Amino acid sequence: MIDFNVPPYIGTEEKYIKEAINSHAICGDGQFTKKCSKWMEEKFSVNRVLLTTSCSSSLEMAAILAGIEPGDEVIMPAFTFVSTANAFVLRGAKIVFVDIRPDTMNIDENLIEAAITEKTKAIVPVHYAGVGCEMDKILEIAKRHNLLVIEDAAQGVMAKYKDRFLGTIGDIGCYSFHETKNYSMGEGGAIVLRDDRFLEMAEIIREKGTNRSKFYRGQVDKYTWIEHGSSYLPSELNAAYLWGQLEEADKINDNRLETWNYYNESLKQLEIDGYITRPYIPKECTHNAHMYYIKVKDLEERTKLIQYLKENEVQAVFHYVPLHTAPAGIKYGRFCGEDRYTTKESERLLRLPMYYGITKEDREKVVRLIKEFFITNKGE
Ligand SMILES: *Cc1c(COP(=O)(O)O)cnc(C)c1O
Repeated sequence: MIDFNVPPYIGTEEKYIKEAINSHAICGDGQFTKKCSKWMEEKFSVNRVLLTTSCSSSLEMAAILAGIEPGDEVIMPAFTFVSTANAFVLRGAKIVFVDIRPDTMNIDENLIEAAITEKTKAIVPVHYAGVGCEMDKILEIAKRHNLLVIEDAAQGVMAKYKDRFLGTIGDIGCYSFHETKNYSMGEGGAIVLRDDRFLEMAEIIREKGTNRSKFYRGQVDKYTWIEHGSSYLPSELNAAYLWGQLEEADKINDNRLETWNYYNESLKQLEIDGYITRPYIPKECTHNAHMYYIKVKDLEERTKLIQYLKENEVQAVFHYVPLHTAPAGIKYGRFCGEDRYTTKESERLLRLPMYYGITKEDREKVVRLIKEFFITNKGE
């Protein structure tokens, strides 16, 4: 079976995990946590990056930092993962879903303004597949209406919009290092703080609402409960795994891009012949090959193609069920405007096997089967 995803593994992770164990400090904020943070701060030229236990945790921290209260509204695309919405629902917010652009599957920046009310507190762009949202426009709207921009850059680590790294453009950015993402620590993530405004409070929230981080830096002589918070600091064991990956971040990125480009080149003719649509990368964006997807005619054709690939030992998968159609989405949110593309485009989308180290033979097989499906079998 060619799996859809295999967690990234470089080979140095075990050595670093052993080092963490031998240092007798396996809770958070040890040497590997610090190394990972510093690496990202330098690479992405951003003020502060704090490791967290997941992107979901980062989003929850962002919702607390944003001061979201019951009754507030938060704008986000309807085509996203549940965590984007959960973080704000947990604080009592109402989610206002906006339609996506059919080309990038990202929030349609031209529909955001109509969704703003006097209760709106934040806009949460999600960089789907590591392809940046139209951030200049989003920042301009946010500025005019005095709203925070919280980037869900779970899939966007190492990708750029213009000359800025995704996650470092809005007020707060959230990364994921889940095993399905480009760089992994099993479960984990990071919160990116562009300026100092939220830094102190972010450290407090991450350390169960205490000023423990300050205490360890010798800035206060005892540590105490300051605010509401939780346990969002990951263990050194996880950070050690991530460190192995970050050291080789360019190698992982190049390898993924090579696979992405192979798929994109090999499937070009199918698009020309009108069978599929390939991903669109706006010229402002440098993507990170987080995902390679194709779009077929409709749900029925997609179901047949998934089945055909499965029979031939290839695992290809669809993605999000639009949140506004899910039970919790109906309960906690509303869709602003018309669902022109979210449902329709999500039903056409199929993700192909994509991971660090996928073999040439495997990806060739994937392409061959897709061509066969459309050309030989004509989808029958
Ligand atoms: C993966 C993902 C998340 C959640 O990340 P975790 O680290 O698993 O919590 C959130 N948003 C998006 C868009 C994702 O792809």
